[in-house]
Amino acid sequence: MSIGENYLRIRNEIPGHVRIVLAAKTRQPGEVAEAIEAGATDIGENYVQEAAAMIQALGEKAEAVTWHMIGELQKNKINKALPIFDVIQTIDSLEKAIAVDKRAARFEKVVPVLIEINSAAEPNKSGLAPDSSVAETVAKGISQLKHLHLQGVMTMGPLGADPEDVRPFFRKTREIFEHLKELEISGVEMNTLSMGMSDSYRVAIEEGTNMVRLGTIIFGPRF
Ligand SMILES: *Cc1c(COP(=O)(O)O)cnc(C)c1O
Repeated sequence: MSIGENYLRIRNEIPGHVRIVLAAKTRQPGEVAEAIEAGATDIGENYVQEAAAMIQALGEKAEAVTWHMIGELQKNKINKALPIFDVIQTIDSLEKAIAVDKRAARFEKVVPVLIEINSAAEPNKSGLAPDSSVAETVAKGISQLKHLHLQGVMTMGPLGADPEDVRPFFRKTREIFEHLKELEISGVEMNTLSMGMSDSYRVAIEEGTNMVRLGTIIFGPRF
């Protein structure tokens, strides 16, 4: 099946309230263009440089979609990232949030952000500890920053293995999301739960996600 057909098949399979962010790493602009032509609305990139090149190559097509930073945001790349991305999904500390806020102020922007949870507490992964009180402290901190708009929570969860193995970590992330939502922190609008990838999106949807990030299942395997 073509990329466009894959996109439409998955779009029809997934409930309408679940947004699909296409993970475009390693893909050619022509491949991403095909997905956009089929109706894709949201594209995720892991690296600032790759995103810049992709957007330039796509030209007008790039303007029609929402760009999500889904990789780790290095502090020295924030200035380059801000004009490119519409949403930063990977705020992994209050310190990082403060750094983004400071630079966003210079661009006179208010940046929609998600906080990333290291839901399985993996030592080599970025993200906050999977603990509601940790997330609460960071969310309250972000709510004080004038140039960030906190809108939700994102997690990767452990890779490989059986998708069922990821379920407890998706469930934990959902709990943290619901906790933050119940707090009704002023200036925070908890509406996005970003979790689920090609091998785990069904489990993520069962656990209440409303945004999945898909690469392989739409574009084919990465080489
Ligand atoms: C690559 C990537 C995805 C999608 O992975 P697939 O398994 O190809 O669907 C989702 N989220 C992030 C952060 C990624 O880097």
